[in-house]
Amino acid sequence: MTLRLISILFLLSLSVASAHAGNAWSAVRYPLTGPPQVIGSYAAGCIAGAVALPLVGEGYQVMRASRNRYYGHPQLVRFVERLGQQAAYQGSRLLIGDLGQPRGGPAPTGHRSHQSGLDVDVWFVQQPRNRVLSRAETEQLDMPSMVRMTEGTLNPRWSPRYRDALKQAALSPEVDRIFVNAIIKQALCNSEIDRNWLNKVRPWWGHDAHFHVRLACPPDSIQCKPQKPLPPGDGCDSDVASWVRDIVQAARSPKPYRKPEPPSADRLPAACNWVLENPTAQW
Ligand SMILES: [Zn+2]
Repeated sequence: MTLRLISILFLLSLSVASAHAGNAWSAVRYPLTGPPQVIGSYAAGCIAGAVALPLVGEGYQVMRASRNRYYGHPQLVRFVERLGQQAAYQGSRLLIGDLGQPRGGPAPTGHRSHQSGLDVDVWFVQQPRNRVLSRAETEQLDMPSMVRMTEGTLNPRWSPRYRDALKQAALSPEVDRIFVNAIIKQALCNSEIDRNWLNKVRPWWGHDAHFHVRLACPPDSIQCKPQKPLPPGDGCDSDVASWVRDIVQAARSPKPYRKPEPPSADRLPAACNWVLENPTAQW
């Protein structure tokens, strides 16, 4: 074989590989129809009977729809629609990030969880209620950070509207917990007078440009594996302070970034094979 032929074959194999990037779960285009059923856990699970969140609704719009991760348990879709209506009432439009894949399962990029149709990312930054972004804008618009990581403080562009959206989400009974950057949690601890709703708002890495809402296992899903319940209290203690210290420290002396391995599909409950392989009518 000539060198040229070898290099052409090599290039061809690369393009085939990138066309198949992802996994069997990200390749499925449609939900499995039927009654909703969550199987397994948030970071190792799947869902039958998921529904698509309409890409634009009152007070919200789905971002990066090309990723095809706007499916979830009907309760999650109703939750987003309700949060949107509340935002619209206050003159805003929420930008919605990933929910899950049509049948859940591990995504090849971006998350470890979001596997069981119960997780949704909501951007902090909002649009005016009457502004609908073009499809191209929803793919390209930046998701700005709301913290100054090396200072351990909020970005001045933080708005009380973002706090309102967080609070609305935390007050929804079907919400189990919400992940935000520890710097945001600490700022809320310092500013909120009524702090009951802060219990569900948990400090984490990242989550400085969006918050991550996780619903509890719905009553229709006996195979859904819940997380350990949250400890009581507002969480405004030494724990949040040590989170902030770690985050500031990591931002000031960054280590070389090692891309994490995508989550494996091998850890899913056996019932998920059936969800993945069951053919479903394509409408
Ligand atoms: Zn998330």
